[in-house]
Amino acid sequence: MNPDYEKAGKEITRLRGEINRHDYLYYVLAEPEIPDHQYDALMRRLIELERAYPDLVTDDSPSRRVGGQPVSGFEQVRHSSRMLSLANSYDIDELLDFDRRVREAYGRDPEYVCELKIDGVAIALTYRNRILTRGATRGDGAVGDDVTANIRTIRSIPLSVSSDMPLDFEVRGEVYYPRAEFAEMNAGREEAGLKPFMNPRNGAAGTLKMLDPQEVARRPLRFFAYTILSDTVRLETQAQVLTLLRQGNFPTNPYWELCKGMDEVRAFLSRWNEARFDLPYDTDGVVIKLNDVTAWERLGSTAKSPRWAVAYKFSTEKALTRLLDVTWQVGRTGTVTPVAELAPVLLLGTIVKRATLHNEDEIKRLGIRKGDWVEIEKGGEIIPKVIRFIAERRPADSEEIVAPEQCPECNTRLERDEEEVAIRCPNRRCPAQVMGRISHFASRGAMDIDGLGHRTVEAIVSSGLVNDAGDLYSLTAGQVKELPG
Ligand SMILES: [Zn+2]
Repeated sequence: MNPDYEKAGKEITRLRGEINRHDYLYYVLAEPEIPDHQYDALMRRLIELERAYPDLVTDDSPSRRVGGQPVSGFEQVRHSSRMLSLANSYDIDELLDFDRRVREAYGRDPEYVCELKIDGVAIALTYRNRILTRGATRGDGAVGDDVTANIRTIRSIPLSVSSDMPLDFEVRGEVYYPRAEFAEMNAGREEAGLKPFMNPRNGAAGTLKMLDPQEVARRPLRFFAYTILSDTVRLETQAQVLTLLRQGNFPTNPYWELCKGMDEVRAFLSRWNEARFDLPYDTDGVVIKLNDVTAWERLGSTAKSPRWAVAYKFSTEKALTRLLDVTWQVGRTGTVTPVAELAPVLLLGTIVKRATLHNEDEIKRLGIRKGDWVEIEKGGEIIPKVIRFIAERRPADSEEIVAPEQCPECNTRLERDEEEVAIRCPNRRCPAQVMGRISHFASRGAMDIDGLGHRTVEAIVSSGLVNDAGDLYSLTAGQVKELPG
């Protein structure tokens, strides 16, 4: 055999092993050992060798993660067994019902594994001869889309596995978009004039449906595995399943717990109901599974969902986030209202960045400071409100919220209206008030002025041409045309 060829083969094997190990350290353990440029150098060397020796290229080489060509659509593929969706429960009573039904069917005291429910997209990964051969979306549970080329770009998903794993098996789990990376991607979309995704889950689903794997590779999707199906390994508990997945280098969510009875389940739920906001990804609940996998078949499933597991959903009308700052807004009547500027957070499917604080008294009543973790709630109003802060999480550098002495818009000294617990700008010509009055006037349909949008009103007011709605009629077309907006 050609000695160069043999040497290249050995180096290729070594490089692949190293790159896979660094991918694992980086994407699964989040403990990288080498800087990016060193990683890139390993990858460049591997690609160079594979170009020189094309017959040494294999499909599971890390250089081939992003190899697929754009496709015109996805092939429909049938799952090896139905991908069931879990029954949802929203309160403890429903969970106790679930526990009672499990006890009856199971015949003894059940142990449960509680896992965080990752708010992503369910997928099934097929491995043949320990090599990833297929990645498919859940679809309707029986048939899904073959998105293998896209799945391969997710670097926490192993393209091949060690001999610790069975030869042929299937792994199921959740593909998700980490929150910070999602926000960054969405900001880029908005800048490019594209419609932003509503939430990280939609972002993950939309990305998996993209037809060009090169594009998908630019989106930092992640994966958590939660089950393995195999004819050759017989696992007895869900705890063993998660342990085996971890041994096989699959990313599993580290926060699962074995709970003896419902009291421990409840403790897990209430702890994560708050702690989930510290995670870098969205969770929308907790999955509670009977730990004894061998009893799953006996317990069976209803038409839609298994009887041995249930999903507890966190309440979404409330969310926890950081209070970054408070700004003071001047309304059309001169009332100055505090507005909470928040770290963006998902609430009922929309991203919330601001919440109302009503007035100074409300701030005192809540006892909040800048930097606090606050709970926000969406009631009947469009704008959510701050309902409390989390005392245990107050940062050392939190700051007092001080009402301004002067109008933030026109610098006039503010007056206190004791009766209405409000502070007020007394300047009738304050631009914020003038604008508010004109917008209010225009929105009531009291006049018919085409093209009088918010921007135009702003431009007219800051030009000093008008001080009130009445002044609008004295504007000439020429004056308006010169204004921006
Ligand atoms: Zn003012």
